[in-house]
Amino acid sequence: MSRHHKAAKWSNVSGTYRKRIEPGLPMPCLHCGKPVLPSQAWDVAHVRDLARSGSVDRVGPAHRFCNRSSGGKLGAAIARAPRPVKGTSKREPRW
Ligand SMILES: [Zn+2]
Repeated sequence: MSRHHKAAKWSNVSGTYRKRIEPGLPMPCLHCGKPVLPSQAWDVAHVRDLARSGSVDRVGPAHRFCNRSSGGKLGAAIARAPRPVKGTSKREPRW
């Protein structure tokens, strides 16, 4: 978990969703589809990753290993993505 996600702001949100989701277990893991059992280590996961314009409100259970592995792969993919060469962007300037 990144330092950003350890901030109290985010841990409080995760705890709220965790309390809502926990009574409904077992539920399918958002990443592998296998059931998340109450006895297993699990995380509150986003249906669509926030880094890919997902929503904070659309969450569900995921195995801890699946969720953290997925987050690591996404972070690596973003870090490895080719960056546009300066001056070639098709985006309009904000001003
Ligand atoms: Zn899983």
